[in-house]
Amino acid sequence: MKSLYDLNYDEMGEMALANGWKKFRGHQIFQWLYRKRVTSIDDMSDLSLETRERLKETYSLKPLTLRDKQVSKDGTAKYLFALEDGSLIESVLMQFDYGKSICVTSQVGCNMSCAFCASGLTKKKRDLTSGEMAAQVVYVQKDLDHQEERLSHIVVMGTGEPFDNYDEVMNFLSTVNHDCGLGIGARHITVSTCGVVPRIYDFAKEHKQYNLALSLHAPNDELRSRLMPVNHAYPLKELMEAVSFYAEENNRRLTFEYILLKGVNDQPQHVKQLAKLMRGLNAYVNLIPYNAVDEKGFQSVDHASAMVFYDALMKQGIRCTIRKEHGGDIDAACGQLRVKHMRKDGVKLP
Ligand code: SAH
Repeated sequence: MKSLYDLNYDEMGEMALANGWKKFRGHQIFQWLYRKRVTSIDDMSDLSLETRERLKETYSLKPLTLRDKQVSKDGTAKYLFALEDGSLIESVLMQFDYGKSICVTSQVGCNMSCAFCASGLTKKKRDLTSGEMAAQVVYVQKDLDHQEERLSHIVVMGTGEPFDNYDEVMNFLSTVNHDCGLGIGARHITVSTCGVVPRIYDFAKEHKQYNLALSLHAPNDELRSRLMPVNHAYPLKELMEAVSFYAEENNRRLTFEYILLKGVNDQPQHVKQLAKLMRGLNAYVNLIPYNAVDEKGFQSVDHASAMVFYDALMKQGIRCTIRKEHGGDIDAACGQLRVKHMRKDGVKLP
């Protein structure tokens, strides 16, 4: 059954019209979902009984069931959800000085096969619908409602490649961004991609103020192709052209993510190559400590080596930050809670 969360604001109005109701009914339903955050169509008390019954014939309102929740000392909370078909996905709530951010999953599994990533341990089973993404945000926001707190930021950085599920992700963003609902500002929304070049151009042409983060992780084609197979299809030159186009077209600063892998991409020559790639771009590099994944055989650099890399990059005039680790005491690394539960359920993983 289709979920009401799958309809963005405009589609909600069209749905109302198609049912022979006033378009305003769509507006009301949208507000019930994203302002009042009801969990049942029966609670939409300003709709007639007949309207509610009609809605219930076509739409469900419960795409997610909580299977596990872990809360870390630093306030990071990890949610494991089961979807209606039983698939497991994770969302993470992170606390920053500037607000609260949710990391949203966009696919069940992932086909990008990055060498270091736990998500790729399971191939993509399917794309999430926009409603399944919106429901992650609503669920976590409802949890925060008890403390009268508000999600201020969204990052599409959970399991999956958002640009391998482009239309649903765009629909989801339009829903959570809409003023009549959660109203999370476009400048507070970030989409992270491993580098699917044609979709980067599409994203640029949306002319929204969303942030684009690029998972770079290597400053030359040879190494990047080894770590990230997507680089065979879209090598660095094409990729850098695409992200530059995004930055210029939308007048936005780019974020480059760079996991520091010990002995792999953390050497002085990598600093030089990275600085050369970044030169002249309105961008900064986010250096990321690696969350070790047992099966993958990579190690993170220690903090001192990360600082050496950071200093060297700064000296080259490249803006960078070292990402603070969140939830080190829970299974917060990308995809790890899900993998743990899948093992428990007897699913065989490589
Ligand atoms: N597919 C998208 C978004 C999901 S991954 C992308 O590639 O950007 C989100 C980020 O986490 C990416 O930068 C990814 O490379 C990184 N990542 C994956 N596994 C990680 C790990 N074990 N430790 C730290 N970062 C990881």
